[in-house]
Amino acid sequence: MAMRRSDVLIVGAGHGGAQTAIALRQQGFEGDIEIVAAQVEAPYERPALSKEYLSGDKSFDRLLIRPEDFWRERSIRMTLGRRVVEVSSTDRHVRLDDGQVIEFGALVWAAGGTPRRLTCQGHDADGVYTIREKADVDRLNAALGFNPRVVIIGGGYIGLEAAAVLAKSGKPPVLLEAGERVLARVSAEPLSRFFEAEHRRHGVDIRLSTSVVCIETVGARVSGVRLGDQTVLPAEAVIVGVGLAPAVEILQEAGAEMSDGVLVDALCRTSLDGVYAIGDCARHPNAYSDGGLVRLESVQNASDQAVTVARTIMGGDEPYVALPWFWSNQYDLKLQTLGLSQGHDQVVVRGRPDQRAFSVIYLRDGRMIAIDCVNAVKDYVQARAWILDRRSPDVEALRDPLTPLKAVPAVPAAQAQGSHTPV
Ligand SMILES: Cc1cc2nc3c(=O)[nH]c(=O)nc-3n(C[C@H](O)[C@H](O)[C@H](O)COP(=O)(O)OP(=O)(O)OC[C@H]3O[C@@H](n4cnc5c(N)ncnc54)[C@H](O)[C@@H]3O)c2cc1C
Repeated sequence: MAMRRSDVLIVGAGHGGAQTAIALRQQGFEGDIEIVAAQVEAPYERPALSKEYLSGDKSFDRLLIRPEDFWRERSIRMTLGRRVVEVSSTDRHVRLDDGQVIEFGALVWAAGGTPRRLTCQGHDADGVYTIREKADVDRLNAALGFNPRVVIIGGGYIGLEAAAVLAKSGKPPVLLEAGERVLARVSAEPLSRFFEAEHRRHGVDIRLSTSVVCIETVGARVSGVRLGDQTVLPAEAVIVGVGLAPAVEILQEAGAEMSDGVLVDALCRTSLDGVYAIGDCARHPNAYSDGGLVRLESVQNASDQAVTVARTIMGGDEPYVALPWFWSNQYDLKLQTLGLSQGHDQVVVRGRPDQRAFSVIYLRDGRMIAIDCVNAVKDYVQARAWILDRRSPDVEALRDPLTPLKAVPAVPAAQAQGSHTPV
């Protein structure tokens, strides 16, 4: 098989891979760039899959990150529908699933991840869906046309967004969450309780602290979900949203250091010479985390790391420093999150959840480290300076939604510490 060479070879045509190629050209890189990806589509906006694409409000061509000819015009070679099955960092080449070998000067691993699956009996039955790729949603939408009873497993963002789409279309599902509240991994209790109430109001049957024993089947098809208390919920479709497994096996086999994802430094370098990693699959030092390394699953992180890795490849040494942000749309609710709340020791609710416009603010040692804003765009915009400057707001003023965030007085951090009510 003929061998070819790319100065920069990017594995993955998601947000990270696409933005790396864009950033390289924006930064004046003139060498060869090739993107190899398992997905068959040109790079597209993944978040819409559980939102406007699932609901049918946006057609696929409106999700493309760039028009199809953008890539050709910038001499970015796209090899789609092909999987990298082997990486050699010593020989600086990859092997594809059809046997092609591509040599590289630098390799950027932006392979994202695959949805975690259930392990119980029936987990792979017909009618069990995950939402990660366009094809997943196309299959799910085809099935929804038959008006099935739907059970969603997992009360994270994807499960909740799918529940909102179904409820809005008049088919509210049952949603099962193993923990005591939804969104527990990322948010404080006031936000979880608010979203639980909203979903229930729209007819979603949310069941908390509920374990799944197995998926019941008739033949190869789903017929229901058996719960820990042995009740069986009838269902013809089950959507599983229980997290992501980073796609790093190939890099692991190549010898890269791992820890729930591939380890990278602040320049997005893995432990392998000439091999970089970004996005959902990369555990990295983050200036806004509580000390440790983090792996973030967000468009912001993938896109900003793409800019960093492009700089690094072009000889720069500017570390990755970007304030994390995230969003989710459910019903008419716009949730926007800024910062990382892990490690907070105080939570302040600002505004009134019953009026469906409020913020949840996370403090550590009196300093604002993160905010969740529900229909509160002004707070989202004005919180940025607080979090970036790591300043300590006066908590009483903070609680009052009539005082704009930017007008809240700052207090010395030591004073703020003294007023703590730990959570
Ligand atoms: C349903 C859904 C909703 C989301 N909503 C939001 C949201 O509202 N806001 C937000 O910020 N983020 C959201 N996210 C997360 C966001 O989409 C991801 O963080 C982002 O896509 C990560 O980009 P990435 O480049 O790391 O990986 P991905 O976008 O997953 O791209 C991975 C690429 O790697 C390819 N690939 C994988 N393995 C191989 C291999 N061995 N060989 C070749 N190619 C390979 C894949 O085909 C794909 O092209 C959502 C994700 C999903 C699935």
